[in-house]
Amino acid sequence: MTHADTPALVWFRDDLRLADNPALTAAIESGRPLALVYCLDEETEGIRPLGGAARWWLHHSLERLSEDLAAKGHRLILRRGKAAATIERLVDELGAGAVFWNRRYGGAERAVDAALKARFKEKTVAAESRQANLLFEPWTVQTKEGQSFRVYSPFWRACLSGSPPRQPLPAPETWPKAADEVASDDLDDWKLLPRHPDWSGGLRAAWTPGEAGALQRLDDFLENGLRLYAAHRDEPAIDATSRLSPHLRFGEISPFQLWHAVEAASHAASPTPPRRSIDKFLSELGWREFSWHLLFHQADLATRNFQPRFDAFGWQQPVAAQLKAWQQGSTGFPIVDAGMRQLWQTGWMHNRVRMITASFLIKNLLIDWRIGEAWFWDTLVDADAANNPAGWQWVAGSGADAAPYFRIFNPIRQGETYDSKGDYVRAFVPELANRSAAEIHGKTPSAAGDYPAPIVDLDASRKRALAAFAALKNGD
Ligand code: FAD
Repeated sequence: MTHADTPALVWFRDDLRLADNPALTAAIESGRPLALVYCLDEETEGIRPLGGAARWWLHHSLERLSEDLAAKGHRLILRRGKAAATIERLVDELGAGAVFWNRRYGGAERAVDAALKARFKEKTVAAESRQANLLFEPWTVQTKEGQSFRVYSPFWRACLSGSPPRQPLPAPETWPKAADEVASDDLDDWKLLPRHPDWSGGLRAAWTPGEAGALQRLDDFLENGLRLYAAHRDEPAIDATSRLSPHLRFGEISPFQLWHAVEAASHAASPTPPRRSIDKFLSELGWREFSWHLLFHQADLATRNFQPRFDAFGWQQPVAAQLKAWQQGSTGFPIVDAGMRQLWQTGWMHNRVRMITASFLIKNLLIDWRIGEAWFWDTLVDADAANNPAGWQWVAGSGADAAPYFRIFNPIRQGETYDSKGDYVRAFVPELANRSAAEIHGKTPSAAGDYPAPIVDLDASRKRALAAFAALKNGD
């Protein structure tokens, strides 16, 4: 066997797709026999081990990817353990001459990838990486002074000032022969799915993990949601957002595919979505890029305030009953409770309601944003190492380009404005299913049947938060 005949190993990470997967395409083009692996590393990768909802998603996504590869005559090798050692061992077992992967941007993952590249160089195994999961590599977007960006608008302007994102690659059509078989774990042995109890019924009803599910959701969004996006994306009862976040999180679809699909929709036959909907949607993809830019430059974004002055902030020791009420959606504030229950039932929450529920925890309960971030991490199917901490820090005011500290969402007014008919609350809070919108979003919520009384006084808690944040400002 000549060196060029040795296998190419494709290492799948958060890119569980065949289309627009540059590492996969490059490996196939190398003409070598092909081996494909996913490695579960809960020790050295990520900001912390995956939460329950993400583990559920990962199981199903890997199942779909395995089936898609099997249809092409290939097998997904599953391995578990510290990624650096596990991948190196697999390369040795296979006698692979080349390894291909798509780049990652979290601190721990970059360290793993850099160490492996160095190791493979010593062993004269080619290690090739490609850009796949961000439209703009974080190190290429810089201020005039050569710094990273701390404010979204100039960041996004800088991104848009260069060449537009490349066209997505099609899924490979011709596949080389498979490398000789090596052992693989059994996915069920990873125990990613919840048992005793199995709480995943709501997730199963709401989602179709996998590449085909992602493409189907994109189609639905292009047909129905996109034209409503600019006008209605803040209304949680209306299906105007894409709900692609978990698919993007696991890389079942790429931002390049989204970018060009949405741009192409502007040339579609009627009904053509308004240009402002397209631009708004692309700018939200821009927020995803910005979050990853932040994480790239501050790997501990989930634990450390982006603005150091917040280190002195006087968080309250959480009152256990209040924290539990927030987690369970029994605060007595209907829009907060609807959001927290949507999260628990479906593993997802509408963006507007994420902001409202986060503001309630941080500002009305004065509980450290990190406690909320960790709860979302465990319960969101789209729990994302960059978007989640960036979102929480944005609401807290400690983040980059964050909401000013005096912005304290009033959950009653937010409910009136963004769920004016009460449909969203009625969908998730059965105790209020027969109430009118005026009763749901009434000025002074009160216990109704089984529905709880408010756990805090809005005015008093608002004043307390303003005082705490003002003290921080004065102490600056
Ligand atoms: P769409 O409106 O259809 O947007 C398309 C895509 O753009 C999204 O899928 C997402 O990838 C990206 N996007 C949209 N809004 C934002 C945003 N504000 N910040 C960053 N990216 C955005 N998003 C996550 O993907 N994972 C998280 O763990 C996460 N945690 C959050 C926590 C808080 C407290 C807040 C305020 C926001 C959080 N977000 C998170 C951002 C946002 O709420 C979700 O991306 C969005 O609700 C997903 O729904 P969608 O796919 O329908 O979004």
